[in-house]
Amino acid sequence: MNSLKISDIQPFKMHGNIYFIGSSRVSVHLIDTECGLVLIDTGYPDMYDQILYSMKSLGFNPYDICAIFHSHGHIDHFGCTLKLKELSGAKTYISRIDNEITNGTLNLSYADEIGLEKIIFNCDVLVEDGDTYTFGKTSIKCRLTPGHTDGTLSFFINIPDNDGTITAAMHGGIGTNTLAMNFLNKYNLPFKSRDIFRKGLHSLYEEHVDLVLGNHPYQNDTVGKLQKIQSGNSILDIDEWKQLLIYAEDKLDKRIQAES
Ligand SMILES: [Zn+2]
Repeated sequence: MNSLKISDIQPFKMHGNIYFIGSSRVSVHLIDTECGLVLIDTGYPDMYDQILYSMKSLGFNPYDICAIFHSHGHIDHFGCTLKLKELSGAKTYISRIDNEITNGTLNLSYADEIGLEKIIFNCDVLVEDGDTYTFGKTSIKCRLTPGHTDGTLSFFINIPDNDGTITAAMHGGIGTNTLAMNFLNKYNLPFKSRDIFRKGLHSLYEEHVDLVLGNHPYQNDTVGKLQKIQSGNSILDIDEWKQLLIYAEDKLDKRIQAES
């Protein structure tokens, strides 16, 4: 497998202590805390060199990764976890439910769908709905928002900002590919997953979010945010979170309509 060193989206500081170090295919975020570096997701398996290169180009030492959180148990989000853990000794986090995917109990990692070799491991910390983890002045609240997978986690990340704090958030899985009729039938999954997904979107609607992080860069116009920063503008936007949730529900509706 060819390993690309340089990402097609330059790594950049988004806001405060949050950095983007992924690529156009999938997001990887880094949070620089007083307790070490926290990663949210680790990309496809072929992104290892790119992630290291991106971290170093921003002045970070990959040995300083202390924690790796996973939005869900698909291989494009945990592809480099084992290697990064081996390098840094980082503790790995995933929902208890999706750990059944990464440990191979359930064959739902999407590796078959995209023709990748399976990667099998247990995470160190099995996250439950509402669990909050604190790293210095940064805290990460995990909310279970099933649908894309049964154990998809959304993250609400409180980070220091000037004299106060702001909240950055990521919905951990708005893709409806795994809610398609073909996929549900293929893996014998219940169609009620669609209703559960919708309910999860509604449950997050009232959350106050200052900065939206994309699980994939198209979800929050990551490149547009980079350009905004380059022209000296803030990327904080308190309306974007609701727009993302509406967009996700609309995508689900369109898929259901197209299938009926
Ligand atoms: Zn996924």
